[in-house]
Amino acid sequence: MSDILKSIVIVGGGPVGATLALLLAKQGLAVTVLEARKQGAAYSESRALALSYGSKRILEKLGVWGSLAASATAINTIHVSQKGSLGRSKLQARDYKQEALGYVLSYGKLSEALDASLASQPLVNFVFEALAENIAHTGTHASVSYSYQGESRALNSRLVVLADGGRSLDEIAGLVKETKEYGHDALISKIRAELPHNNIAYERFTANGPMALLPNGEHDFSLVWTGKKEYVNALLELSDEEFLTQFHEQFGDRVGQFLSVEKRMAFPLKLSQLKTTDTPHLVVIGNAAQTMHPVAGQGFNVGLRDAESLAQSLDVTAPADFGCQKMLDAYRASRQSDTKNGLLFTDFLVSIFSNDIVGVNGLRGAGLGLFDMIKPIKQHLVSKMSYGK
Ligand SMILES: Cc1cc2nc3c(=O)[nH]c(=O)nc-3n(C[C@H](O)[C@H](O)[C@H](O)COP(=O)(O)OP(=O)(O)OC[C@H]3O[C@@H](n4cnc5c(N)ncnc54)[C@H](O)[C@@H]3O)c2cc1C
Repeated sequence: MSDILKSIVIVGGGPVGATLALLLAKQGLAVTVLEARKQGAAYSESRALALSYGSKRILEKLGVWGSLAASATAINTIHVSQKGSLGRSKLQARDYKQEALGYVLSYGKLSEALDASLASQPLVNFVFEALAENIAHTGTHASVSYSYQGESRALNSRLVVLADGGRSLDEIAGLVKETKEYGHDALISKIRAELPHNNIAYERFTANGPMALLPNGEHDFSLVWTGKKEYVNALLELSDEEFLTQFHEQFGDRVGQFLSVEKRMAFPLKLSQLKTTDTPHLVVIGNAAQTMHPVAGQGFNVGLRDAESLAQSLDVTAPADFGCQKMLDAYRASRQSDTKNGLLFTDFLVSIFSNDIVGVNGLRGAGLGLFDMIKPIKQHLVSKMSYGK
């Protein structure tokens, strides 16, 4: 058991796990990352992430932003509207003295930049094609068993961090997750419009579910269109032309006609959160700890703040106390309100705006108009979206 003091083990080298590894290495801590995919396998993933202004600042501090800036598209304005009502609201970066409200970046580009930065960190041992199979914990340490090149291996550490995106290791003793299935899917694609995007992101609520258009690149938008499974399945079946016509009908004329759409894919949407974590020497962060509806683009940003807070907790803890109850309690307490608010905020948006009860539509429209006039509420929302507070 002599290895338990050597290194912190992170399971999952997605954007959240990789960011944590970089933060820890910069604090002088040795880290082993176990990542199931092959090196480079995520680089072609074109899914758009909406990075908050605060997330950009974390990546800037880590020296990763420099190589990403050219492929990121700034969001200077967020335009919120509701189909079938006149009310609408606009948030503008310049009103909040920020250079942007957020940025749009592809998952692949972010993974590539993080991997490149990690490769030059002597304190990080990033093991690709290492599939974690189980994590067990005791009063002194946690153990990860994993397979690598057909061989079964194990690692022990005072602190194991689970950042697998909630994709694989759900059955760990002491972890209880609460999940709300929306019965909705998100259709994602890239779409080109007749008019330039002018760095405006559009959030539109329709009776079928919310949709978002995020400026991505010089001309294109990344599209997230959510709705009931059957509704989204039917959208997947349409020809490109029929799809563009239907989308135009729902979205309206703000950016003119829609000219082309790339390959369409759909994901099931759910909201999930860890309810119990009685797991000494094991901590869960990122999407593995909470999964949100993508309507407000909060998921990744909350995960990045998990990584930042955990690094801060470790910075004020002696290595012999890593993963002890006191340290874990302090970390979990530091994340409680941000996580809860993120979950409540997205769930609220989905519930309020995604139904079609007679009469509610007009009220919602009026609400958006009213919200547009109340500066402190908007200030609060911008600060929540940018920094989580
Ligand atoms: C349709 C859609 C749109 C979204 N849009 C946005 C958005 O606009 N803005 C936003 O902020 N967020 C968005 N999100 C959420 C965002 O994608 C996630 O918050 C983010 O990817 C979480 O990062 P992560 O590192 O926690 O997990 P992941 O990105 O899932 O990474 C987990 C990593 O762990 C690895 N792994 C899994 N299991 C194992 C194992 N057993 N052993 C070893 N490695 C393992 C995986 O290979 C992967 O590399 C969206 C999500 C969806 C589905």
